[in-house]
Amino acid sequence: MGDCIFCKIVKKEIPSTMVYEDENVIAFRDIAPQAPCHVLVVPRQHVCDVHEIATEDSDIMADLFGAVKAVVAKECLAERGYRLVINSGDDGGQAVPHLHVHVIGKRKLSGTMG
Ligand code: 5GP
Ligand code: ZN
Repeated sequence: MGDCIFCKIVKKEIPSTMVYEDENVIAFRDIAPQAPCHVLVVPRQHVCDVHEIATEDSDIMADLFGAVKAVVAKECLAERGYRLVINSGDDGGQAVPHLHVHVIGKRKLSGTMG
């Protein structure tokens, strides 16, 4: 956890372009955007991935998706559509082991699932 990049962004120890913040969640622009809009929505609490979320922590997913909706509204993505991605583990292509939702939009995305 000590060297987790996203924990450092949460603590503002490394800079990011913030899009949205609330008590439990932050959202910032991806450093290597795959589309004109590419935002990462991240719980402030360090959770590696969806499997680490205990049933009693289910508020995390509700908080995360509440923030996703706020980002979609702020970035005006609803009308044209957008894609949400959660990579999990090695096969899922997760590079940063701190749970996050990619919000990707403002271009026509291909239908590929990888
Ligand atoms: P993953 O592959 O884990 O689902 O996605 C990690 C994402 O984090 C990648 O899209 C990558 O570009 C982004 N990323 C990695 N390091 C940083 C960083 O230091 N700042 C920001 N803003 N994004 C990062
Ligand atoms: Zn972390």
